[in-house]
Order: sequence, then C-alpha cells, then structure tokens
Amino acid sequence: MLDGKIAVVTGASRGIGRAIAKELAGLGAVTVINYNGSSDRAMEVKQEIESCGGQAELFQCDVSDYAKCEAFIQDVIQKYGRIDILVNNAGITRDGLLMKMSEEDFDRVINVNLKGAFNTIRFVSRQMLKQRSGRIINLSSVVGIMGNAGQANYAASKAGVIGLTKAAARELASRGITVNAIAPGFIETEMTEVLSDKVKESTKAQIPLGIFGKPEDIAKTAAFLASEDAGYITGQVIQVDGGMAI
Ligand code: NAP
Repeated sequence: MLDGKIAVVTGASRGIGRAIAKELAGLGAVTVINYNGSSDRAMEVKQEIESCGGQAELFQCDVSDYAKCEAFIQDVIQKYGRIDILVNNAGITRDGLLMKMSEEDFDRVINVNLKGAFNTIRFVSRQMLKQRSGRIINLSSVVGIMGNAGQANYAASKAGVIGLTKAAARELASRGITVNAIAPGFIETEMTEVLSDKVKESTKAQIPLGIFGKPEDIAKTAAFLASEDAGYITGQVIQVDGGMAI
C-alpha cells in the first residue's frame, strides 16, 4: 500500500513512533527512524523492520534545533530523492504546577513538541511542494484539546500543534499535500509508565472504553492518514482516545 514511499518518523526509537515506523515499513515504505539520544533503541527498531523484510535508516537529530533539522531533511532528500510522508511524533513532558514551573521546563517542551514540528515541516514542505504531493501527520494530544493540571507547557505545545496543523493544511492543500493531527489519549509507553498508580486509575476512570490505548492504535491511524485512501482529509484532528475527550 505504501510501496516505494519514503517516510520520515521523528522520535521513532520507542513508544508510539516506533510502532508508527514499523507499521509504515510493514506497508512497504522506506522508513527513516529519527531519534535524539542513544542509537541503541533506534537500531533495534531498524533491525525489527529489516527482519520482517522492510527497509529502514537511522538519522540522529534533535528536532528542536532548526539548523540541524535543515541538515537532517537535506540528508534524507539527498539520499532518497524525495519525502512522501512526514510524521512529527518526537515529544517530551516536563510536568509541574504552573506556579512552580521553571522557564527552562516550559521552553524545552515547547521547543521539542511544537517548534520541532515546525522545523521539520519548514524543510520537508519545500520538497513536497516540488513533488506536488505529500502527507504530514503531527502528534497532538487530548491534553491539547482539554488541558490538564500540571501540564501547562505540554498542553500549550499540543494545542499549538493543532494550530500549526490547520495553518499548514491551508497553505499546502493546493499542491496536493495533506496535513492532519492525531490526538491520542492515554497510550501505554515509557512517557505514561512513570505516572503513579493513582494518576493512572483516575485517568482510566475518564475513559469511556475503560482501557488504555496501545502504540499500535495510533500507528494504524497514522498509516490510514498516510495512505491514498485518506487523500480528501486535511486539517483534521483525529482523536484516538477511547472516548476520553468526547
Ligand atoms: P516516549 O515513549 O517517551 O518516546 C518519545 C520519543 O521521542 C523517543 O523516541 C525519543 O527519542 C524522541 N524524542 C524526544 N525528544 C526528542 C528530540 N528533541 N528530538 C528527536 N526525538 C526526540 O513517548 P510516546 O508516549 O511514544 O509519545 C510519542 C508522541 O505521542 C509524543 O509527541 C507525545 O507527546 C504524544 N502523545 C503520547 C501520549 C501517551 O499517552 N503516550 C498521549 C498523547 C500524545 P530518544 O529516545 O532518542 O530520546
């Protein structure tokens, strides 16, 4: 279904990004696994993809760094000649009450989650405009829709991703490029693993379906948005949250 497509997935060394990279590669896309820290986990993802007959490549880049993102995207274009799918998944949390939140924690979350998505779109869209086609998928969150106490930085970044998605969708639509966001609810990854049992139980109580999501739930949605079948969908925020933010 995605045979021959070139897909870039940021933050694909673990969690949701890893599941998205594996899903896109399983559908035939040559998948670029971006990571920031150690390459060990990203290498595991590459090996998992290759052991299933897929193709993957590793690219280290801190997505919050504008100049490094330009070099990263240029390297991918130089190597593969095009980029068909961009998934802005890289994200972090630095939780704390607003009144006690440090400037550094606010800035870092905005810089990775929101500016990081801007940085990659900024450079990938130039290539997609030339191609007159492309799919951009940004990871937002239910928290960007509902807000959440203790996550002012994260909620602002994820609400910002929705605005970025809608603006980019309007700018790029005339050249056949779609831009959509996915707003996951509570998904079982390392990001949510650190939360206390008390927080987990009170969150679960807010989920009409009564269960937490899996990274694969988000990966399936990303694969649909990346497919030809989703060609008439742009500027949308798809909630994959078990009904949490109905
Ligand atoms: P995770 O398990 O903590 O994984 C985060 C990924 O982002 C890792 O691969 C990490 O790479 C990468 N990353 C972090 N900072 C980066 C940077 N500066 N540059 C490049 N990559 C960076 O998180 P997750 O739960 O899978 O979340 C993935 C996305 O979904 C995030 O945007 C998150 O906000 C969003 N989301 C998650 C949930 C949830 O319940 N889990 C809910 C809503 C939205 P390294 O290992 O190299 O640092």
